[in-house]
Amino acid sequence: MSPLEVLQLVGYSIGATLPLWMGIQLISRRRRLSPVERVLVALALSMCGWHSSNLVVTLHGLFGFGYGHSVVTVLRVADTIAVICIVFCYSFLLHAHIHLWAAAAERTLKRSEKIRIYLSYIPTLGLPFAIYKIWTHQYAPMLQRTHLFVIPMAVWITYVLGFIAITELLIAKKTRNLSEQRIMGTLAASFVFIGIVILAALALGLGEGTQLGLYLKTLANLGSLLPSALLAYYIYRYRYLELIIEESLIVATFAAVVLTIYIYGIRTIGDWTTSRYGVRAGVVEALLILALALAAAPLRSWLGRRFHKLFEREAALYRQIVSRISSHAGQYQQLPDLLDFVEQQTTSALKLRRVRIVLSDRAGAEDTQPNGDGRAEALPRSPQTRGPQRRSAVGVEEGSLSGVGRLEKAQVSTEPWVEDLLSLSGTDNWSPVESNPLLEANGYTIAYPLRRDERVSGVLLVDAASASLTEDVRSVLEVLAGQVAIAIEDSRLAEENVRLERKLTERERLAILGQMAATVAHEIKNPLSAIKSIAQVMGEDQSLSHEYSRDLSLIVGETDRLGRSVTQLLSFARKELPSELPSRSEQLIQSVVRLFQVSAEKDGIQLTMRIDKDEELEGSAVSALRVALSNLLLNALQATPAGGEVTITQMTQGDELVIYVQDGGPGIPDDLRQRVWEPFFTTKQRGTGLGLAIVRKRMQEAGGTARLVARANGSGARFELRLPLQKTN
Ligand code: ADP
Repeated sequence: MSPLEVLQLVGYSIGATLPLWMGIQLISRRRRLSPVERVLVALALSMCGWHSSNLVVTLHGLFGFGYGHSVVTVLRVADTIAVICIVFCYSFLLHAHIHLWAAAAERTLKRSEKIRIYLSYIPTLGLPFAIYKIWTHQYAPMLQRTHLFVIPMAVWITYVLGFIAITELLIAKKTRNLSEQRIMGTLAASFVFIGIVILAALALGLGEGTQLGLYLKTLANLGSLLPSALLAYYIYRYRYLELIIEESLIVATFAAVVLTIYIYGIRTIGDWTTSRYGVRAGVVEALLILALALAAAPLRSWLGRRFHKLFEREAALYRQIVSRISSHAGQYQQLPDLLDFVEQQTTSALKLRRVRIVLSDRAGAEDTQPNGDGRAEALPRSPQTRGPQRRSAVGVEEGSLSGVGRLEKAQVSTEPWVEDLLSLSGTDNWSPVESNPLLEANGYTIAYPLRRDERVSGVLLVDAASASLTEDVRSVLEVLAGQVAIAIEDSRLAEENVRLERKLTERERLAILGQMAATVAHEIKNPLSAIKSIAQVMGEDQSLSHEYSRDLSLIVGETDRLGRSVTQLLSFARKELPSELPSRSEQLIQSVVRLFQVSAEKDGIQLTMRIDKDEELEGSAVSALRVALSNLLLNALQATPAGGEVTITQMTQGDELVIYVQDGGPGIPDDLRQRVWEPFFTTKQRGTGLGLAIVRKRMQEAGGTARLVARANGSGARFELRLPLQKTN
């Protein structure tokens, strides 16, 4: 058997089985075939028909069956099938590409494209003529009988191949996926190459009658194997990863191994034993073929196992992670665990050095609402499973990046370089960032943006040896990045939902409390003032005051205190309307300080005021600040012992007015930092627990914030008030 015959035998066998197998896979994997899938199945069948017929003709030549009547009929049937299949094959190919192009542009077929599809079947009109030629006169090989048909056909095929190569290059340009770009580019180059071979061998008759000519013709015939690559690509695109590549690789590798052993092994060994020992070439060949046949089954299953392992690993990883992600949907508490899982599994399964998921706050930043101590709300994240690198010292106030968005802001390292990296990846760019100095400086090789629609929720950072980043690994990473982005987005939505629900419940609770407080306050205020007046009148009565003066002044003092509490209650319950006129910040702070100066001096406390820049304040800000400052100062003076100091500092930061009230008291224990803001929470024997609640409420009504600044225990409490300043222009 000559190498050419081996090439024909192996090539045609693969050509017959591979597309058939892929076509069956497509049909069996899909419940309903889409139009393009139907064309691809038809393409697979036509390729199978063409190669099977060629195989029949090759086998006929190999076995020397002669040209008896029935043999000729078989040959004519084979030729007929071959010619029908090859003509339809290229029309199908063109047809499929018009669909793929429309799909790449994410639209349905245009009218002009539909017309072009019909036109692509024009060459099939020549089939009756070709079939007539095959069945009349004496039998001759198909290409000879249909030579009139061959040249226009070769030109047509070359045109189709050129056209689809261009389409593929355009699709490659359109796609954002790097591996898809490469596949399409390679397919385009292969189609151009095979188009040139077909033109040279069939239309121009290059090397006619020589060995080269025969090879060229066989290559041209085998060229129709190429569309199987398109089929494979299609299946690949729709993520039947394990399917294409596994089985096709086994078959192709097996064929390549057998071919190499045959040509270079059997031929060389045969020639050598013949020249050296005079053993008949046929005997050696027969023995070696026998050995090869015996080794074929184990070799095939060994290859099968190797490839299966390869794909099993990736497919299993993919399945496992996707199922984890889908089962996680909406359970926001589990996001940190899920991210850990993805990081660990991906690192080990894809043999990477390190995988890390860093989330950006960009996507959720605009809806972050302060609560508690003014910072974003923290949801639990299991610390034992997080890498230590994700956590930094507690006390980071606000970070642009967080481990799980705002889930645990205080525990997250700020890494501005990741934000820089994300801005590099652009707003509409989905491709990974690679060979980037910023990335490399931080010890990573490649970064995949975690993107869903227009929102980037973070980045998947990978550190790996370049050999481990194969096309398949990249595909898996890309799919994973998409899945993780979906999980994060779901989680953010769920978190947002919970936050809003909590806020609503809190509001309802406060509204009821407010109403109740207002009613009680009104009920109490009138009798209180009556009691006070009576006590004062009695105090003026000489006969009574002599005996009861201490009791009466106690009654007046207590009614005053009760009166203040009731006023506070009312102020909390009412929505205060801005009643004050615009004022300047210095003047306002001075007026509040003046109110407390006397009592501070009496208690031996130094009240200091530091004003950085005098700012103009609008009405609502004035009344809010007045109330807030009074409450904070009252608390500060109550907390500070004699000899201590209370400082009010005012400064301007950007467009905001910032005021700090710092006292010399014991400070607020960590476990109370959130609770002190709750209405009616108090640790004082005669406290109302409304002071800080009013501070926060009034500041928020004026568009500002109030929070407790973190400080070490024992160094006094430090409150911060922030108000946006009016733009003056
Ligand atoms: P009240 O002063 O009536 O208790 P607030 O809402 O003003 O109500 O304060 C709530 C609680 O917060 C106080 O009872 C106290 O425990 C704590 N607190 C407020 N300000 C300070 C401060 N400057 N130093 C220490 N603790 C404070």
